[in-house]
Amino acid sequence: MTLHTEQVAPLIVDAPVAMDTAAVEALSIDVTPTYTAFAAGPGGQSFVEKKLELPKLGQFDVAVAIICCGVCYTDTMYAAMAEGMVVGHEIIGRVEFKGESVTNVDIGDTIGFGYIRSTCLECQFCLSGKENMCAKRTTFSDGIGGLANASVWDSRFVYKIPKEIEPRHAGPLTCAGASVFGALYGYNVSPTATVGVVGLGGLGHLAIKFARAWGCKGK
Ligand SMILES: [Zn+2]
Ligand SMILES: [Zn+2]
Repeated sequence: MTLHTEQVAPLIVDAPVAMDTAAVEALSIDVTPTYTAFAAGPGGQSFVEKKLELPKLGQFDVAVAIICCGVCYTDTMYAAMAEGMVVGHEIIGRVEFKGESVTNVDIGDTIGFGYIRSTCLECQFCLSGKENMCAKRTTFSDGIGGLANASVWDSRFVYKIPKEIEPRHAGPLTCAGASVFGALYGYNVSPTATVGVVGLGGLGHLAIKFARAWGCKGK
């Protein structure tokens, strides 16, 4: 289903933060004027509930009912430095509406997204799979992040999440997971390699999972 931007502009998500399948299936966006987001309070020590209007849907945009959002250490730093910012960039949600040029996801798909909001899609970095280096990139902190119950995002920076992965487990893959996978992939780590991981936090434990699935030996 494709809606005109005017129809989609005022949206709200009534999305309980629940992880059981039935609750996730029940999520939906209603056409009402606002959605809820949680902005950083003073020093990042609290959250303040905000009612916001979702932006109009562009041709490549999807409107998403957010199911859950991981908390990355970067979020805690931004929240401490920027009172009023809505952080959150390990977002899992369900597509509720999409712009007329969206081809990679459909209504009802579960998708993951979060760190990169947009890039130029034309420079040497964008054309070689290194769009994170694009000089014109924008990130989650340039707008409203994922600690909210809805979002509008460029579909060219969202990824389908298989049903077999629980949303709360998939969230961290979109930042912590992508960061360590990028290192393994970018340095051509082969299944015969021995991989050392320094630190077993949010990123390190995912690096081990990727390396193990790849067939690598640990050190
Ligand atoms: Zn992060
Ligand atoms: Zn670029």
